[in-house]
Amino acid sequence: MNFKNLDIASCKKYIAEMGLRPFYEAYLPWLKKEDARIHGFLLFTDDLVWKTIDELEENSKDLPLHGVPVAIKDNMLVAGYPCTSGSKMLEDYVAPYDATVITKLKEAGAVIVGKTNMDEFAMGSSTETSAFGPTFNPHDITKIPGGSSGGSAAVVGGGLVPIALGSDTGGSIRQPAGFCGCYGLKPTYGAVSRYGVMAMASSLDQIGPFARTAADAQLLFDVIKGPDIHDSTSVTLQNKPVKQNPTLGLPKEFFTDLNPDIKKVILDAIKKTGLSTKEVSLPSLPYSLACYYLIVPAEVSANMARFDGVRYGLHEATKDVLQNYLQSRKAGLGKEVIRRIMLGTFILSHGYYDAYYLKAQCLRKKIVEDFQNALSEVDLIISPVSPTQPFSFGEKIDDPIAMYLSDIYTVPINLAYIPSLTVPVGTLDNMPLGMQIIGNNESEPAIFSLASLLESSLK
Ligand code: GLN
Repeated sequence: MNFKNLDIASCKKYIAEMGLRPFYEAYLPWLKKEDARIHGFLLFTDDLVWKTIDELEENSKDLPLHGVPVAIKDNMLVAGYPCTSGSKMLEDYVAPYDATVITKLKEAGAVIVGKTNMDEFAMGSSTETSAFGPTFNPHDITKIPGGSSGGSAAVVGGGLVPIALGSDTGGSIRQPAGFCGCYGLKPTYGAVSRYGVMAMASSLDQIGPFARTAADAQLLFDVIKGPDIHDSTSVTLQNKPVKQNPTLGLPKEFFTDLNPDIKKVILDAIKKTGLSTKEVSLPSLPYSLACYYLIVPAEVSANMARFDGVRYGLHEATKDVLQNYLQSRKAGLGKEVIRRIMLGTFILSHGYYDAYYLKAQCLRKKIVEDFQNALSEVDLIISPVSPTQPFSFGEKIDDPIAMYLSDIYTVPINLAYIPSLTVPVGTLDNMPLGMQIIGNNESEPAIFSLASLLESSLK
């Protein structure tokens, strides 16, 4: 049986024809076999699949995701299963409860099939920093899938599962979605509860959907969004009306030095929609990468303090307490995580806080204002996802600055708290190419409406 490239509708059709249990009896072995080529999954949750099916068979078939398989990035807690965040530190850690997004998926009838690979604690852009080996791009296994949610992007973009969840602090949903050829949304900050998700940089982290169509991404977003008593930053999104024929802004800072081949694919796609465009300016944009790589390590150093060899995960028994902390962290954490902890501790230390951290916060305010100004002139903003196409393994892993530069078009959006969706718009060098649709806070419906228009214009 071939289950490749199923979206939610075709998946439900198969299930209606075959029955839920026979579908999974055939689908699960197929999925495992297909995944052996790309290593998108760290773990399959078979027991949970059969338990969910038993419950679903008793339940109404009207649930929005009734029987639909979903893959989960391994930094979200699924009760009773390991949750590693791609780190040796948490290799044996078992989740004690469900993250809010998991509870919502279960209530919507989704079937969680497994946990996906990721850069360690979501720090990276290629999934190469995972302690459990990399994931391979389904379109060319010599190339990285992007990161940090590389596993989720690869299994959706490769057509192994219709939908998945990822997390995005500076591009970790949108960049791998672009590299693997699927949709990936970084929602408005606070739109989705972060309860039960391992924190990287709390003022930037958001959970979001991966899908094979714009409509599926919107459906999954609608299932997981909403306020949560367990997350004080979560908000209720207002139902903003969607404007017909939106004007699209093209920030000159994004397009001026962009690779001309990438630019052409994006501009050709926009042209097909017939919508009007306008050049806008985001003057603080050139500083956003510097701003991001100050705020992120600062927040990372605070969030990672809990992994001390006592409370969670790996424990190296030593003679005294200090050695216990030092040895456990040394044995459990990888190079990139340690680099950010050191940098963050330095940035927050007495004498440097004002010089670095406070300045970065001022800059962040400027970036927010820039986007607000631009979005008062246009309805939505178009941007590339990444300055390059998917790169080869090993190409950037020993050069952190080169790796950080691949986030140049995605980090400003997290700094500005606003939503952005990666939409596949074509191919270049035989690899998928995506672009971002960026909107103001709570403009997800307008973003999805343009994504659907693009999807049909590109058919
Ligand atoms: N690649 C970026 C980083 O390493 C983004 C990570 C993310 O969004 N989780 O910080």
